[in-house]
Amino acid sequence: MFCSPEELLQKTLALSNTWQRYQTTPTFECFVELAVSINSFTEFLIDKGITALHHASHQLEQVTLTLFNKDIVHPLAQAAQDDLNERILALGRMADTHATAAAGMAERRQDHQHAITLEQRVRQTWLIGHDPIVWNGLLVQLGYFGMAAEFSLWNQDLPDNADTAPLLLLDMRSLPDADWTSRIQALRQRFPMGQIICLGVLSDFEQLQQALRGGSDSCLLEGTPSHTIIEHIMDLSDRHEQEAYRVLIVEDSKTAGHVIRRTLEENQIVSEVVNDPRQALTALRQFNPDLILMDMYMPNCTGVELARIIRQHNEFLSTPIVYLSGETNVALQVDAMRLGGDHFLTKPFNPVFLNAIVKCKIERYRALRRTMYHDSLTGLLNHSSGKNTLDMVLSSMAHEGSMLSVVMMDIDHFKQVNDNYGHPVGDQVIRSLAWLLKQRLRKQDIICRYGGEEFLIGLPHTDAEQAYALMDRIRQDFAQIHHPYRDSYFMSTVSGGISTYPLHASGDTLIKAADEALYKAKRSGRNRVHTGVD
Ligand code: GH3
Ligand code: MG
Ligand code: MG
Ligand code: MG
Repeated sequence: MFCSPEELLQKTLALSNTWQRYQTTPTFECFVELAVSINSFTEFLIDKGITALHHASHQLEQVTLTLFNKDIVHPLAQAAQDDLNERILALGRMADTHATAAAGMAERRQDHQHAITLEQRVRQTWLIGHDPIVWNGLLVQLGYFGMAAEFSLWNQDLPDNADTAPLLLLDMRSLPDADWTSRIQALRQRFPMGQIICLGVLSDFEQLQQALRGGSDSCLLEGTPSHTIIEHIMDLSDRHEQEAYRVLIVEDSKTAGHVIRRTLEENQIVSEVVNDPRQALTALRQFNPDLILMDMYMPNCTGVELARIIRQHNEFLSTPIVYLSGETNVALQVDAMRLGGDHFLTKPFNPVFLNAIVKCKIERYRALRRTMYHDSLTGLLNHSSGKNTLDMVLSSMAHEGSMLSVVMMDIDHFKQVNDNYGHPVGDQVIRSLAWLLKQRLRKQDIICRYGGEEFLIGLPHTDAEQAYALMDRIRQDFAQIHHPYRDSYFMSTVSGGISTYPLHASGDTLIKAADEALYKAKRSGRNRVHTGVD
């Protein structure tokens, strides 16, 4: 993981600012800010692998944590303040030295956790190389998947108004080895949030090392066929669209809730605090967290009691619950976990450990949910979760008085695809339609693999006319995709049927009406979208 000197100095400045703020306003609140800032700095150093500074920062963190107690009076005793001051200054000096040393080789890599979600539907893609003709086929195909793909020569600058997070495909074959690192680094610096994929790399240690060191996200070896490159790009963009982790904090103390919230926020984890345990169920339903951080002792209800209440609900059976409490009695901790908890952290909590536990539990929980609710071939919602999601979205549209369109899509003559090219090739055609839908539809849209080669789509705030325009464009582009088969390719088409709420009022009737419209599209010749209205 690389870090730019500016980034390090910025973090150092943020830390010394919170320390100065505490010195002018020595309250518990400001001390909390300082502790959070030190934690964030330490996490940052770990993330970036800056081991030289990590030790000092970690010690500072430990010292701060021992002072992190509501019984301690602020301002802190002069000796404690002097000690902190000395440590913070020393850390600042070390950071300066490190930044100066690193300035010459300012390599900046994107941290996947910090990646911003791309909202735009068409993603700007550049293929940088020496010969546009070689790449024409790939660029055209990427266009069908929703990427605005253009060619650019190595010695030509990308336009000033280029996207801040483009996809950059680099043809490394005709670039001298000695230039690799500097070329990639320059692009990485200009587009810290972009994705860089090197093409035409040899399976050679030195070449791979140079390409990855320069800051590329991945390398595809010389001879990789176009469809494999496309597959790789689609899988990569899938992973980047992860939503921020969500944590519900149940904690009666407002201060403690605030501290936990700030700590999580520093790690890009979204959270909500509930001070009254009786409101936890409502908050769970509304906020839909990936994990619950729960205080042990609260008025009216203990954490264990609340965990048991939560576990009576099927939908929250697997939501991880982590207790956060001053309870150090191991027997009680074991009991608490037996009764519906997943982990126990003692207060005063170590923010670094808290983050690590929260992230690791959420990753597992999300992986579990993926297998429960998603289809393994395409990663889309499976049949039953697609229907459930549609019902949920429909009720919120009804509540808002908004429209919603439902689309059923089915690949044409798919039996023939299987018969002519084999089942695995058929699977690949299904995946390519799934990719296309993921690339083109918005985040709030429902995309579900309803059956074998049938897809159910829900488009909130969309009337039949808008749905038709969107889906017909997707249909046209799907028909242009080249599906590889041996040394050649074949093409495939899809038909669609649309129905709209409030004309059809329930999830089931919407699906039925969309199915009927699809049947009409099939009967009138396939490769078309029908709105169900004659
Ligand atoms: P139509 O244009 O009327 O839709 O014709 P069709 O041949 O596509 O007919 P239909 O939709 O009834 O056929 C679906 C076929 O899809 C039948 C089944 O063998 C195949 N299929 C279902 N699931 C999968 C799958 O996961 N992978 C592959 N490769 N084939 C599948
Ligand atoms: Mg409490
Ligand atoms: Mg079909
Ligand atoms: Mg079918």
